[in-house]
Amino acid sequence: MATEQGFDHVDWSYSTARLYQSCPRRFYHRYARSSNQSSGEENQSETNRSPPGAAIGSVVHDCIEAQIERWRRGERLSFQAAQTQATDRLRAYVEANEDLLANEYTDDDAEFNPGDQKRSLIRTAHTHIERFFQVIWPQFSSHTYILHEATRSFTVDKYTVWVRPDLCTRNKDGDFVVTDWKTTSSDPFSEPSVQLLTYALWSHLEYEPELDRILVQLVHTSTGEFVRTRPDEDGLIELKTRIRSDCHDWGTRCKEKDFRPNPATDKCRSCEALDRCESGQSLLKTDDS
Ligand code: SF4
Repeated sequence: MATEQGFDHVDWSYSTARLYQSCPRRFYHRYARSSNQSSGEENQSETNRSPPGAAIGSVVHDCIEAQIERWRRGERLSFQAAQTQATDRLRAYVEANEDLLANEYTDDDAEFNPGDQKRSLIRTAHTHIERFFQVIWPQFSSHTYILHEATRSFTVDKYTVWVRPDLCTRNKDGDFVVTDWKTTSSDPFSEPSVQLLTYALWSHLEYEPELDRILVQLVHTSTGEFVRTRPDEDGLIELKTRIRSDCHDWGTRCKEKDFRPNPATDKCRSCEALDRCESGQSLLKTDDS
């Protein structure tokens, strides 16, 4: 158990680092409560009070994962199976979250209608899946499968780092390609993300000693756009510095007050620590008044 003397242990992963950056207090409550979660990967079902956008993201991601598993087994991909999977999952999501959707994601002057909500979410998910089959997957036709949805670890100094790439392949030129599915749109002004650099560092250490033969790509299922990055040495050095700094903080800070709250309406509404967080509660009270 974690105590006021600190956490027993929290390994570094992109998701733990993102949680810490987004709200250190939420990070504290997540790992003070459950410090035996060694990989640091989040495991939140879309039936568990996720916002509708996050539910669509989770469902589309899982539908694609199921199709890649068919590819791994040498089977043909099935558009019909993917659409059916998305439909069933989103129906279940709306039925499990009617209160949340009615109270927090429906405009004050509109009436919540579960049937309309299901149709709307399913239509959106089907559009992503169509894009995957029509635009995205044909671009993998010459790739060789290596792994997908596999949890792997490596170390930076004494710190353990976890990754869970969506898909790794070799393209026809022999590049090691790491692909991450995104249901959100791309941001042309963003720097290469920490997530991409983490995949690149892992690939470099475990699979491909030549950095310029590593390609990390975000594939946006809303548009079919591929955003490709080739990592450089400076980016990997910066990432290692951040990993050391985060792990040092997590190993030396020990009290709740050491982890400042960083409230924002959307974050706090879906935060599992809201019942223990005065900052989040007072922000939502102000929003609702
Ligand atoms: S309720 Fe808001 S401020 Fe409080 S821990 Fe959660 S995200 Fe952070």
